[in-house]
Amino acid sequence: MSAPYFTLPEFKYVKPQTLEEALKILAENAGEAKILNGGIGVLGFMKERMIEAKILVDIKGIKELKKIEYMPGKGLVVGATVTANELLQYLEKNPEIKKKFSALYESTSDLADAILRNRATIIGNILEGLPYTDAPGPAILFEAEVKAVSTRGERVLPVEGLVLGPMMTRLEPDEIVTEILYKEPPAGARTGYVKFNPGLEYGYVNVAALVANPDNPQKRDVRIVITSATTLPFRPKAAEEVFKQDIPFEKAAELAAKKIEEEIEPLSDPYASAEYRRYLASTLTYKLLIKLARGE
Ligand SMILES: Cc1cc2nc3c(=O)[nH]c(=O)nc-3n(C[C@H](O)[C@H](O)[C@H](O)COP(=O)(O)OP(=O)(O)OC[C@H]3O[C@@H](n4cnc5c(N)ncnc54)[C@H](O)[C@@H]3O)c2cc1C
Repeated sequence: MSAPYFTLPEFKYVKPQTLEEALKILAENAGEAKILNGGIGVLGFMKERMIEAKILVDIKGIKELKKIEYMPGKGLVVGATVTANELLQYLEKNPEIKKKFSALYESTSDLADAILRNRATIIGNILEGLPYTDAPGPAILFEAEVKAVSTRGERVLPVEGLVLGPMMTRLEPDEIVTEILYKEPPAGARTGYVKFNPGLEYGYVNVAALVANPDNPQKRDVRIVITSATTLPFRPKAAEEVFKQDIPFEKAAELAAKKIEEEIEPLSDPYASAEYRRYLASTLTYKLLIKLARGE
């Protein structure tokens, strides 16, 4: 008799204690083995029979993947098995770093609930590839890169463009992401995150933004990443370009909001229509940009 829906199919569970051991298992079982990190996504998708794995390779025993390190001028490195709560605790203990990466702090505080944050890893949240997750926006905002390692060597990939859809990425099946580097924001930049989710855990629309030198058009730097509104994270480059014009910040923010409204192609689902998401994306971005520019 086949297994009923919402029970896990059979699989072999392995928990290597070193990276070398884990890479060897993945190389020898390419296509049949999957990485188990926090496991929230991978086990859920297996229960729903949306993905298959004969072997789950639990990477949480590999000590070197549990690191958080700030390198002045370079950025913040977060290891593959660091959970949302571990990152929050680190940032709370280091207020200067928290201030630099406030969009990361705010989005991680908003990620699901306290119980899930004890389990969910930042890397797993990004690689799960759901449109609604909270970690991808700030990662793209801080131009983050992941280090992917296999028995063939290692490579560095930008988070922007890494994910192709739910449980689909540009990674090879034998690669492990060992860490993510959030790049140092420009000096004096302010960053923030808003999640619009009344009555839900996931956001209808999430916006991450960065504003540096708002009153100096020659030196202004504005970055915007919208998630939850579209299938994949949306970086409205045309809206960002508006801030290069020699016009006051508030005027540029108005024009940018209009560009977002014109260019975004939002999802429509039982929670929010495409039209509502278009309105939210434009309005939330405008409000966040003004707040960051005013230093509120
Ligand atoms: C009730 C509920 C509410 C939720 N609410 C929210 C919410 O509000 N916001 C939100 O963002 N999310 C939410 N989630 C989703 C949850 O946060 C994610 O499922 C979780 O963050 C995924 O991380 P993980 O560590 O469990 O990843 P896993 O499930 O372990 O992994 C996810 C995917 O990434 C791959 N992977 C993981 N680590 C690596 C690695 N190092 N190298 C290569 N591949 C890797 C895995 O093989 C798998 O394909 C919710 C989930 C539930 C069940």
